Amino acid sequence: MARGDTPPHVSIQLVLLNEVEYARPESVAEAFELLASNDNARALAGGQTLVNVMKQRLAAPDLLVDLAELEELTPITVGADGGLELGAMATLSDVIGSDEVAERRPIVAEVAARVADVQVRNRGTVGGNVCSNDPTNHLPPLMVAAGATMTVAGAGGTRSVTAEDFFLGVYMTAVGPGELLTKISVPPAGGTGDGFFSVTVGNEGTGIVNVAATVNGEARIAIGCVSAVPVLVTSRPDDDSVREAVRGARLDPPSDVHGSGEYRRHLAEVLALRAVGHARSSG
Ligand SMILES: Cc1cc2nc3c(=O)[nH]c(=O)nc-3n(C[C@H](O)[C@H](O)[C@H](O)COP(=O)(O)OP(=O)(O)OC[C@H]3O[C@@H](n4cnc5c(N)ncnc54)[C@H](O)[C@@H]3O)c2cc1C
Repeated sequence: MARGDTPPHVSIQLVLLNEVEYARPESVAEAFELLASNDNARALAGGQTLVNVMKQRLAAPDLLVDLAELEELTPITVGADGGLELGAMATLSDVIGSDEVAERRPIVAEVAARVADVQVRNRGTVGGNVCSNDPTNHLPPLMVAAGATMTVAGAGGTRSVTAEDFFLGVYMTAVGPGELLTKISVPPAGGTGDGFFSVTVGNEGTGIVNVAATVNGEARIAIGCVSAVPVLVTSRPDDDSVREAVRGARLDPPSDVHGSGEYRRHLAEVLALRAVGHARSSG
């Protein structure tokens, strides 16, 4: 066989991505139309997850609907209740640099700043982070603990979904075919303390366990990486009650190369105590 020839039993993938149609709508209404026009259309935000899973052939959409031109999805504003309204296309870097976030609910920026590296944060959006619902992502447990509300819209109208009901399974959310997440509403702090602790694979790495907590009278604790969706536990905010509540949740986390299920169960308890402790002292 001559040098450079391919042996007959080896197949080589010659292209990085499968062929895919691409559209860049100029209005949200046009985006809804495009998404509804093809059962296998997918919204493209920062592409930090979607393009990677396409490269790995784990997703093969027929049509990418790029949301980059939809300026109405990018603002970060203050809602009528004094809480934060995060446009789905706001990047993690936008969140980190936002005065509104720093003033109203700084934990959101603090957690966004822990995601991966500056390149991912510059391209990755809050909408993409929650819509991909990778169980190791940082924002899903944060949004569940904070009691955030997701606005989901399509040609048929707009609906509000609590963060608790938004996450349905690994890579599955309440966003249906032809719909988009348009914004995330985070309630005003109003005396609520926040905490977020995680153990990751190396610095800026993937979460092994992430725990977000809020304390305002009771503690709301959302545990990530232990199940397909964040596990919400509520308890009194003292250490004994938190420990008991997390044990009572009977977590059954997966084992993988980064940690056994037993280790994750242990981390969930330790990180919940730290997150609630921080939230108690920051409210
Ligand atoms: C090397 C690397 C390390 C990373 N590490 C972390 C980490 O430690 N923690 C973490 O939290 N994240 C991590 N991420 C993921 C990162 O945070 C991405 O920003 C995020 O997962 C996806 O955001 P995106 O805007 O790029 O979305 P995309 O990749 O464009 O989209 C992701 C999914 O969401 C859907 N989608 C996007 N926007 C909408 C919308 N408005 N409405 C409906 N559906 C929508 C898309 O159709 C797609 O299915 C990492 C990514 C990389 C590449």
